[in-house]
Amino acid sequence: MFKCIKCLKTYSFDDKIIKCTCGSLLDFEFYAEFPLEKIRKRKPSLWRYEEAIPIENKNSIVTFDEGFTPLLKMKLRGAEIHFKLDYMFPTGSFKDRGSTVMISKIKEIGIKGVIEDSSGNAGASIASYCANAGIECTIYIPEKTSIMKSRQIELYNAKLVKINGSREDTAEAALEASKNVYYASHVFNPFFLHGTKTIAYEIAEQLDWKSPDAVIMPVGNGSLFLGAYIGFRDLLNCGITVKMPKLIAVQAENCSPIYTELKRSQCRGVEKDKKETIAEGIAIRKPVRSKQIIDAIKESKGDCFTVTEREIIDAFKAMSGKGLFIEYTSAVAVAGIDKYMNSIVKRETIVTVITGNGLKNSRLENF
Ligand SMILES: *Cc1c(COP(=O)(O)O)cnc(C)c1O
Ligand SMILES: [Zn+2]
Repeated sequence: MFKCIKCLKTYSFDDKIIKCTCGSLLDFEFYAEFPLEKIRKRKPSLWRYEEAIPIENKNSIVTFDEGFTPLLKMKLRGAEIHFKLDYMFPTGSFKDRGSTVMISKIKEIGIKGVIEDSSGNAGASIASYCANAGIECTIYIPEKTSIMKSRQIELYNAKLVKINGSREDTAEAALEASKNVYYASHVFNPFFLHGTKTIAYEIAEQLDWKSPDAVIMPVGNGSLFLGAYIGFRDLLNCGITVKMPKLIAVQAENCSPIYTELKRSQCRGVEKDKKETIAEGIAIRKPVRSKQIIDAIKESKGDCFTVTEREIIDAFKAMSGKGLFIEYTSAVAVAGIDKYMNSIVKRETIVTVITGNGLKNSRLENF
């Protein structure tokens, strides 16, 4: 059952609601299990953790056999880092982790049509899984979204609605339209997080069922970050691992609401002007789940860093030079590695998530 995080009111999963009547977010409790012997024998997809994923009927699973992406150990500027290659998903970003689970649930409760808003990748991912499931799909995007992402959405046969305005205007328009159609939001719908959490299971399994010391991720709405938190907490609760890794959020300096909120008590005047960033996937000025993100940073003894546009481009080029063609948005986390390394004193096992494929970058200037 869905449970309001504030007033604790509960709702059935069949209720086509996205927020509590009190206006707060909905989550739900779910007890994951990890039968390691069985898991080991299954095919390398994120559905190998089926006992940890809240889908009741196997026939409702909508999948491309996605997941179990490589955890690649590589030297970058002298430091040894484990890169989790989540750009190797069917639609080109980690969002497929959330979509395979959320769209499966939507199929399970018999929904025939959905709408969603996105800066591009979530929309492309949900459109793809809806095409797989035979569910009608409408995606709202800001007009200036990368052409690669908007064409990708249309090619999956989704209806594309371009909003002449900001990412926030787009979300508002979709929320308004969702009064008539099911709102398959990767931000509000907690089933999405119960898909993205599988990244934690994979990382732990790839490290012989151990948690790394730190996981560095780009953060916009926090669907990856909060998923990772839930996943590592599941492993800890079940006694599979013995510690929670430090969860490190990295944001573009030009759009850094989580950083601003977290450091508010430590220093004044960190509020920045509204500026554009090349990291379009995380240009989120008001993350709906900001409080949960900050709680996850604090509870995991993690941190938040910001990186400049120059640092993002340099990190993008450094990765391309290593043969990995990634999204600018993903380069934010790579740029964050240096900042994190400067803040620690001893050697650690560090994982950085590569979230999206470079083929989707809108502008490939000769920087
Ligand atoms: C969506 C996205 C992110 C950030 O995810 P949030 O859930 O908004 O924090 C990072 N990188 C890429 C490539 C994305 O598509
Ligand atoms: Zn409530």
